[in-house]
Amino acid sequence: MRNEGLGSWPARRALISPDRVALIYEDRSTTYAQLHDRVSRLAAGLREAGVVAGDRVAYLGPNHPAFVETMFATYAIGGVFVPLNFRLTAPEIDYQLADSGARLLIYGPECEATVSSSVTPIPRVPLSSYEQMVLSADEPAAGDVAVTLDDPACILYTSGTTGRPKGAVLTHGNVIWNSYNVLVCVDVAGDTVTLTSAPLFHVAALNQCLLPTFLKGGCSVIMPSWDVDACFDLIARHRVTWMFGVTTMFAGLAQSPRFAGADLSSVRNMMVGGAAVPSALIRSYQERGLTFCQGYGMTETAPGATFLEAPESAAHVGSAGVPVMFADVRCVGPDLTPVGVGTPGEVQVRGPNVSPGYWHDHDATAAAFTPDGWMRTGDIAVVDAGGHYFIVDRLKDMYVSGGENVYPAEVEAAIFEHPAVLEAAVVGVPDARWGEVGRAFVVLAPGASLDLTDLSGFLTGRLGRYKIPKYLDIMEALPRTGSNKVRKAPLRELPLP
Ligand code: ATP
Ligand code: MG
Repeated sequence: MRNEGLGSWPARRALISPDRVALIYEDRSTTYAQLHDRVSRLAAGLREAGVVAGDRVAYLGPNHPAFVETMFATYAIGGVFVPLNFRLTAPEIDYQLADSGARLLIYGPECEATVSSSVTPIPRVPLSSYEQMVLSADEPAAGDVAVTLDDPACILYTSGTTGRPKGAVLTHGNVIWNSYNVLVCVDVAGDTVTLTSAPLFHVAALNQCLLPTFLKGGCSVIMPSWDVDACFDLIARHRVTWMFGVTTMFAGLAQSPRFAGADLSSVRNMMVGGAAVPSALIRSYQERGLTFCQGYGMTETAPGATFLEAPESAAHVGSAGVPVMFADVRCVGPDLTPVGVGTPGEVQVRGPNVSPGYWHDHDATAAAFTPDGWMRTGDIAVVDAGGHYFIVDRLKDMYVSGGENVYPAEVEAAIFEHPAVLEAAVVGVPDARWGEVGRAFVVLAPGASLDLTDLSGFLTGRLGRYKIPKYLDIMEALPRTGSNKVRKAPLRELPLP
């Protein structure tokens, strides 16, 4: 029997590069040989706990080596890994545990309160007894389970930016093809040091960074939680060469007083994605001499769909690049035929990285995936004559003012250029005269001030009149998902002044 899936990776890597460091967490380094040994023992422990091939194993906790070990041990015995967002409440976790039919939950001490309020009747293993599970296995589990590339590897819940998170199934093949797509686009090698700065339960940190680094025998530095100062410190201390972040994380670094003087000399590439990336932010990194590459993707595409390679990044600021090597990407109109150059259309993706659908949810699967294999992303893009994709916004977030389509991401990018603004979100709200108008929610820099007249004056000449928001709310913070994206539904529900 042959394990063709991700579960065989630790054993293979332990043969090829046993002494190289696979993971660094705080002061602890784990080599590939050590990781393989621990994963095999944990796999035996999972079997002793009754987990068999096809069973779902859930993990709840901030970034930690145990996350990586649990994932590989689950894969080694043919199980399905279900990483959960540790920022969710107990009822939200209960929904995902029930939805995925998890057989066992492993969790970190930070999640004790959530887990004790959870009502799902499954065995729970706290990290305090997890070590026992690893150590007590007499015999490491042999990698003797048949796993094919079409078997489900994991169920990843989407970020929940537009509604309740959906459980996207990714097969071993989906995840492996995504790794190949990354390796084609990005200069990842055996000497790569990747900073795992985003949460590992999110598809980007896991599949876009950690696994391609692992495949090449590089080192992943695991950051338990996002912190601007800790990020600068870890980059300098471990000579980090590559990192992924969502827009807000890179905005936080750029706005830090340490940005100008921090030692970033080891960094070869920074990858941004997950939400619209204002061009002003990209330029601030390029002016600092850094290679800053935008990618676009989603949980359902494992995640990479388009990517802007380093040599192109300076000449195509604002573009999310071109389709990844092993996927088809197209932009279609409402009649599902491809749109022309410069015309907004919905992005669709097809290829070996695209999920077969949502776990046990035929309706949601039928709504998002066409019978001929295209994933309907719900995102609008324009493609230029050179084939470069510019992600405009989500179809769901677009609004119509005086008969004209307004894409909030464009308005947000213009507001973001105002020096007083740290964060901005725009939604469409009903208006008797125009049908809908924009309402801007802004977080200001410390000590700064801004009113609607200032903002309108700043945007006049930058944006068409119908795009300039008619309302401005100054906020302490914006509502966000666990992966740091702005949730617009709660903003739309706020009563108008
Ligand atoms: P949900 O599907 O639950 O509403 P979500 O779509 O935010 O949440 P993810 O799969 O984490 O969940 O995110 C994928 C989405 O993020 C894409 O569909 C797109 O809307 C957005 N996105 C990703 N990369 C970019 C980018 N470079 N520019 C603009 N938007 C992006
Ligand atoms: Mg989505």
